[in-house]
Amino acid sequence: MNRIQIAIQKSGRLADKSLNLLERSGLHFARSKDKLFWYGRNLPVDLLLVRDDDIPRLLVEGVCQLGIVGENVAEEKLLEARQGRPEVRLDSLGKLDFGHCQLKLAVPEASNAKSIADLAGKRLATSYPQLTRRFLDENGVDADIVMLNGAVEIAPSLGTADAIVDLVSTGTTLRANHLKAIEPVMASQAALYRCPQRLDAEGEQLLDKLLTRIQGVQQAAE
Ligand code: ATP
Ligand code: ZN
Repeated sequence: MNRIQIAIQKSGRLADKSLNLLERSGLHFARSKDKLFWYGRNLPVDLLLVRDDDIPRLLVEGVCQLGIVGENVAEEKLLEARQGRPEVRLDSLGKLDFGHCQLKLAVPEASNAKSIADLAGKRLATSYPQLTRRFLDENGVDADIVMLNGAVEIAPSLGTADAIVDLVSTGTTLRANHLKAIEPVMASQAALYRCPQRLDAEGEQLLDKLLTRIQGVQQAAE
């Protein structure tokens, strides 16, 4: 049978907990020095260590069969992919109860804006243009989106945006930049996803077995 490839974040907020969950589920990997591909030693299941942004596409294309990524990234990338290919899917196998954060609309502390409606015609800086556009559409508000890959929270003080839509967990970064959250856009946590393609019978059986083990570890932790 073909081996199963699991994609997780190489380094960052989800990296350690993702690896830890898989190891506690009984998967052992031969760690390679370059830290990109770890061969599974006890089961035909290997690890791919990548940027979190790449995980949804690896799953959609069936390069990897399982992946752990934040719901925020999965949803953003899915919306993006659907622009060209409306049929694109990604199947969630469940939330993992780590990597909790919220995508929030925030404005400068001195701003009078109380809700998204107050930002009509203004500029919103974000790394999540798709989720931000959907939020605007759902609220019937038209505003300009300024896409930034990092340092979104300094955009208002630089004068490049009037508000931001950014990930917040404790609020410390917002406060440090004299911003205040005014509306939640999306709650997120790490989740387990599978590729939309069906595997052969043996592959599906192995996926089921892995899922049962992962769920067992999660229940034991509760
Ligand atoms: P990569 O190099 O893999 O692209 P990154 O810089 O995009 O990493 P991290 O900052 O490690 O990503 O965040 C990964 C995920 O962790 C986020 O997409 C989100 O789901 C989750 N997360 C939890 N809390 C926070 C937070 N306070 N700020 C940002 N992300 C958070
Ligand atoms: Zn990333």
